[in-house]
Amino acid sequence: MERAILHCDLNNFYASVECIKNPTYKDTPLIVAGNPKKRTGVILAKNTLAKSFGVKTGDVIWKAKQICPNLVCVPPDFETYAKYSDAVKQIYLKYTDFVEPFGIDECWLDITNSQKLFGSAYKIAENIKNEVKQKLGLTISIGLSFSKMFAKLGSKLAGNDEINIITKADYKEKVWHLPVEKLIYVGRRRLVQFKKMNINTIGDLAKSDKKLMIAQYGINGEYLIQIANGTEPDKIANYNNLRTIKSIGNGTTTIVDINTFEQAKQVIFYLSEMIAKRLRDKGFKSLCIHLSVKDNELSWVSHSKTFETPTNNAKEIACHSIELFNKTWDFSKQKNLIRAIRIACSGLVSDKENFQTNLFEDTTNKEKTSKADNTIDKIKTKYGDKTIKRALLLSASHINCEASDDFFEEENFE
Ligand SMILES: [Mg+2]
Repeated sequence: MERAILHCDLNNFYASVECIKNPTYKDTPLIVAGNPKKRTGVILAKNTLAKSFGVKTGDVIWKAKQICPNLVCVPPDFETYAKYSDAVKQIYLKYTDFVEPFGIDECWLDITNSQKLFGSAYKIAENIKNEVKQKLGLTISIGLSFSKMFAKLGSKLAGNDEINIITKADYKEKVWHLPVEKLIYVGRRRLVQFKKMNINTIGDLAKSDKKLMIAQYGINGEYLIQIANGTEPDKIANYNNLRTIKSIGNGTTTIVDINTFEQAKQVIFYLSEMIAKRLRDKGFKSLCIHLSVKDNELSWVSHSKTFETPTNNAKEIACHSIELFNKTWDFSKQKNLIRAIRIACSGLVSDKENFQTNLFEDTTNKEKTSKADNTIDKIKTKYGDKTIKRALLLSASHINCEASDDFFEEENFE
């Protein structure tokens, strides 16, 4: 059976919830902004009325007030947004277990097999849309397609409270003429390169030379062509596997006992990379790191820290862990050697939520490191965990790579 994937995107989510909380806002141009007291606060969301004035997400408040003087500005209330987000997911889950959140207001649903029970894919999309509207007062844009990224594109093309369908029969006609930057993986930097390669539309990308793209982007090159053709192999995650995870950690017993900081650092980088990949695979970032060290007399010492900006970046996790390690262990004072190190990340949040709350931050560097991480992930997924290593790890013969899975753990504590 042809796959039926939905991408459901709640319309003006934060602003819509604010209007439900306070119905008088419905007829007022409204924005939700990081810090309304500061005129320079950044707009996180706007309602339809504010949008009609030309107010844009990401703009600063004072600029928006220039074009829309009556603008009402409220601070974000993430707790309530999370409650609504969960309530919506409960409705999605009535139709399928394959519900994969992407941020707080978007989900993919694989409803291929749900059709036997609930009718055609379009009927299901319609029922979901109506039920969410009736029960919660929120509207959704839905994309329905045979691939994950075309479903995502479909919801982008759909208006508020609408369903857009992209089928195998009409995708060339519907999608290929669109500018290539409509695809989620085509950011500003990549777009500049694409223009140079004369790739302007999604169709241009779909028909681009595979060898050339692989030469330019490695595995990502092939993946990009697949996306443009609706043939990428991405599946929709099972929600039940996602939501119970409270912490993600890895540990390893070293082949020889560790007696230098350099060796410990290598182990920390090795573990951080595995954890970071698992976090990214599951769509999480972490706000808290625990590091434990076992000595050769088998006693454990540990420290933990929490931080403000959540991360799923290997280098950042390693840096936090090294800081913890320095608190936990001092080679000049310890008479014992190190036998094992364990790192666990908790305080898990969705990887997209954070992006929206951190608009103030300079993300240029982070973008670079997260791009490198994504490339490493793809290579590892395709060719296995041991194919790519940081240069730092090439000399790390004391790390017992093979045994590391024995200590692999996914703790589910409340
Ligand atoms: Mg949305």
